[in-house]
Amino acid sequence: MELTQEYIEAENKELTRQYKKLLRISYQTLTKEDKKMIRKAFEIAVDAHKEQRRKSGEAYIFHPLAVAQIVASEIGLDATSIAAALLHDVVEDTSYTLADLDQLFGETVARIVDGLTKISNLKKDRDVSLQAENFRKMLLTLNDDPRVIIIKIADRLHNMQTMDAMRPDKQRKISSETLYIYAPLAHRMGLYNIKTELEDLSLKYTEPEVYKDIKNKIKDSKEQQDKYIRDFKKVIQDSLDAESLNYTIQGRPKSIYSIRRKILAQGVTFDEVYDKFAIRIIYKSDTANEKFLAWKIYSIVTDHFRPNPTRLRDWISSPKSTGYEALHITVMGLKGRWVEVQIRSERMHEIAEKGYAAHFKYKQGDDGDRGLDEWINRLQEALDNPDTSAVDFVENFKLNLYNKEIFVFTPQGDLKSLPKGATPLDFAFGVHTEVGMRTRGARVNGKLVPLSQELKSGDQVEIMTSEHARPTNNWLDYATTARARAKIKSSLKEEKKTIASDGKITLTRKLKSQKIPFNEKTINELVSFFKLKTSLDLFYRVGIGTIDNKMIKEFAAQRSNAFMSFIKNKIRKPTSTENIDRDEITNKYDDLVFGSDEQKLDFTMSKCCNPIPGDPVFGFTTINDGIKVHKSNCPNAIDLRSKYAYRIISAKWIDSSTQGHTVEIKLTGIDNLGLVNQVTQEISNHMHVNIKGINFTTNGGVFNGNITVVVQSKTHLNKLMDNLKKINGIDKVTRV
Ligand code: MN
Repeated sequence: MELTQEYIEAENKELTRQYKKLLRISYQTLTKEDKKMIRKAFEIAVDAHKEQRRKSGEAYIFHPLAVAQIVASEIGLDATSIAAALLHDVVEDTSYTLADLDQLFGETVARIVDGLTKISNLKKDRDVSLQAENFRKMLLTLNDDPRVIIIKIADRLHNMQTMDAMRPDKQRKISSETLYIYAPLAHRMGLYNIKTELEDLSLKYTEPEVYKDIKNKIKDSKEQQDKYIRDFKKVIQDSLDAESLNYTIQGRPKSIYSIRRKILAQGVTFDEVYDKFAIRIIYKSDTANEKFLAWKIYSIVTDHFRPNPTRLRDWISSPKSTGYEALHITVMGLKGRWVEVQIRSERMHEIAEKGYAAHFKYKQGDDGDRGLDEWINRLQEALDNPDTSAVDFVENFKLNLYNKEIFVFTPQGDLKSLPKGATPLDFAFGVHTEVGMRTRGARVNGKLVPLSQELKSGDQVEIMTSEHARPTNNWLDYATTARARAKIKSSLKEEKKTIASDGKITLTRKLKSQKIPFNEKTINELVSFFKLKTSLDLFYRVGIGTIDNKMIKEFAAQRSNAFMSFIKNKIRKPTSTENIDRDEITNKYDDLVFGSDEQKLDFTMSKCCNPIPGDPVFGFTTINDGIKVHKSNCPNAIDLRSKYAYRIISAKWIDSSTQGHTVEIKLTGIDNLGLVNQVTQEISNHMHVNIKGINFTTNGGVFNGNITVVVQSKTHLNKLMDNLKKINGIDKVTRV
């Protein structure tokens, strides 16, 4: 696209128009101060994104502006949230920093943008399932301000609305994630309209054909539906009017997504889905008569239509945890058809459309801010409380599994999970051993803290390192993770070795002056005399001086007096142990590979759609049966994708004759010097063989090896095994 002068001018005009619209459509009444803050946020955002354009070609600023409009109008949040929405991509994408925002807009806006930036950073370079899993964890950590999540939902809604310019695989990936995370979240927060739109848009990209088909059918049946509602209205109209009720009757169409779900769940056709729409009666009322009028309308409706007693839902007496209030009944309507009737006051209707933001607008005597705070507090409780059944995505996991885990961020915004009770030192070793080893100090959320401080979920941890830093014995008191403790111990051991080798030299000299020969026998006598375990302990103690001249003289004196018995205690260490991921080593089938790295994994074909080679397929990870392969257009696929997107793994058919085969070889033999070296040498000499993993152990002089290799063909494998057998010391070579 050429950015001509005219184009830029038209774009600027549109920008001004959209900005004015943002202020106009705000659900909350904006004060002068509010408008000033929003103006400032808008100007900063315009400046920050001035060089950026979206894939569609339009200036980037239109995206945050649209997100702010959703936040302001559809969700009805406050000016702080509107400003944060305008700024939500500024820190991630531009040279503005969090500190800048803090200074310009204060702590709250900066904190919200920080949360949004962290979420964005999580997304990079992760496969779908891992990403979804991380998202879920992240949501649990960021619940200290639900506005972060709400703005993120608005961000996602706008991205879904403007996804046409994207690659189809990306569209599917984002849609799957939307169904998995954002739609249930929007539902949980009482944002029903947004939830519905997210679901419909997701279907549009995961199953475009189905989406179009249902959409067209809805359009075709619209007239018929309108007539049905008109006829229904005629029946009750006079009775309602006789009670001088002020009301409107509308049809509420079922969403495309929920029609699709019903078709799949009940195995019916579009025409057989009877509740494609509900009838909604919205009435005017003052607060005092609200409930009474609802039941009055109920009474009138059921005078004319027989109600289904099992389908009565009274959410006026006990509202849903999301704040939803209404009276739902299902009646036998015209043409012998069950139809749902939703009875709600205008106030209830607004809450249903907007969620709690509307709820608190109606609260008498409360100013808007306090209402919003209360809403946020209630959302926080809902998120804090894992028992809340409506949080669908949480149900799929055993939440208490993660209660013992905390999630912290690196300065770059990467997420790290650590066991509860972990300290900055654990974090340092979690990042990298080298970082752990060189830890000098730590900052948590910008403040210097002791290395022993317990970390909390959501903390941002920065480790300061120094070339001269080294683990000390104290560190074992600060570190709680097995990984950190093992590394610290082995480092302390290394240090001990260095001191010991100095100690050995000192000891040789001291023994010489006592006319005692320095040999294995003497060493063993010394170890026993000082009640130690190993010669290393002995040399180390000499090195640091706890065994001094005087004590060596005592030993010399006793030695000349008596012969001592001693036990030879030789401890052998395994030559080398390298662990490999054994899960990778399966080779039962060789015509499908999974994931972005095209791994070979165990799988079975699903019975519901029986894929054959060549079909577009995907893998679905089951709890008990490993990976099941489904066709992409399998009727169960949409359901699986939506509910368990994190368990979906991409699958690709491969030509097995051109692919390498992963094989595990087991070696046994007599341990001798250089054997490992010879084995690895032999394998790498073979041109067509790659080593994927090696694990050698020796036990009482017996050598055991497991090698995982990738070979091109059986011939190559046999050749390799033959050559391995020829190595001196190798007894048996078998394929596992
Ligand atoms: Mn965005």
